[in-house]
Amino acid sequence: MDCGLFGVYGHPEAANLTYLGLYALQHRGQESAGIVSSDGKGLYCHKEMGLVAEIFDQEVLKRLPGSSAIGHVRYSTTGSSHLKNAQPFVFDYSRGGVAIAHNGNLTNAGLLRRQLEREGAIFQSTMDTEVIIHLFARVSEGLHTVDRLIAALSEVEGSYSLLLLTEKELIAARDPYGFRPLVLGKLKKGYVVSSETCALDLIGADFIREIEPGEVLLLSGDGPHSFFPFPRVKPKFCIFEFIYFARPDSFIFGHTVYQVRRQLGVQLAEEHPAEADLVLPTPDSGFPAAVGFAHSSGLPLELGIIRNHYVGRTFIEPRDSIRHFGVRIKLNAVREVIEGKRAVVVDDSIVRGTTVKKNMHMIRSAGAREIHVRISSPPIISPCFYGIDTPTKEELIAANLSIEEIREFLQVNSLGYLSLEGLKKCVAGHEDKFCYACFTGDYPVSPPAERMQLEFFIKEV
Ligand code: AMP
Repeated sequence: MDCGLFGVYGHPEAANLTYLGLYALQHRGQESAGIVSSDGKGLYCHKEMGLVAEIFDQEVLKRLPGSSAIGHVRYSTTGSSHLKNAQPFVFDYSRGGVAIAHNGNLTNAGLLRRQLEREGAIFQSTMDTEVIIHLFARVSEGLHTVDRLIAALSEVEGSYSLLLLTEKELIAARDPYGFRPLVLGKLKKGYVVSSETCALDLIGADFIREIEPGEVLLLSGDGPHSFFPFPRVKPKFCIFEFIYFARPDSFIFGHTVYQVRRQLGVQLAEEHPAEADLVLPTPDSGFPAAVGFAHSSGLPLELGIIRNHYVGRTFIEPRDSIRHFGVRIKLNAVREVIEGKRAVVVDDSIVRGTTVKKNMHMIRSAGAREIHVRISSPPIISPCFYGIDTPTKEELIAANLSIEEIREFLQVNSLGYLSLEGLKKCVAGHEDKFCYACFTGDYPVSPPAERMQLEFFIKEV
């Protein structure tokens, strides 16, 4: 599940800061958002479906007192779009309250859930995250919160960056492969944990470091304490965070996202040059790579595709008879820029192929003489099981059609994808530390094996 996490420990305005942090992480999930705060005596929660700015106002934030808080923004596919799946989850267990927020996917969640249910557990949601809390609550009495969490995490497989809040502590943890990002920051008063550094910038927190793969970080009255309880493995950071998902102004996995994304465009121009008049970025995700492509090829960069920034969840799909207008609601072409021109159109990725197909139709209608599509990632041929919302193999266009067939489907003059080798060059020196499974089918952690698990996963992610 694509998600964003933000947490504050030891600041009197914890919930307000968490609200701002989630605002900066809105790109990581637009379906629901929630904040849980603690005043040392109890946990206070507010979560709803919708965007951060729609859910929280001064009145709501006033009802979230205390000096620590965790927050979550959630993205999900349709089918599991329920408030009951909105995070953070809050539970009472034998030692008090506990809240959890999770970014990632547990690949053995189906199996663990069935075992727990057989032993009498009753689940409130259909989220894999809830499995962690059941495991956490079952650990034998007397253990410290951190040890309980470590015991629970020892049983799960897959990806997690997560935040756990109790009345007195905030714990941040990242799975041993470090699939999803998580960073630590410092305010004058207190600490901040965030999926990405862009949220630290917003609240004026200093970036300290990334939380390491396999690290469990306890923030309590005595300051931060790190634990590395799991066997060390080679990291497998998600390369798709660099290609599409993270914000370009963030620093994660040892790089500034913009710089990597721009370099992808430089490399793409070297691999797939085009005889053309101009480079058109596809807003917004294609911008940095288009800058790199234009710089490397010497072609002018033109903003020939314009995005309406106010398209949101509230947009009502028109009736079938006028549905084709829908394409232009998000993006529109500038005819004076495009007409009669040979255009290189740069985008970050093709997943199902439907968006790029509509965009090409729009650019052709605006009078482009030739269209050369350049994609700053390799063909996506395998679904992600670690938290990026890519569909099943049947729906991935590159898993089913050759590049030439995709070019025909898009009705364009040429189509070039960045090579896997080219992608690795853009993170040279660290290329072994990334997961490329969506491009190779080579999964570092076994995907859910059993059919039932797979169904649980597909239905509920
Ligand atoms: P499509 O090929 O129609 O499925 O759409 C691909 C476009 O969606 C790409 O240009 C990306 O900008 C964007 N995209 C890629 N991956 C995702 C994702 N996991 N969730 C939402 N949008 C995505």
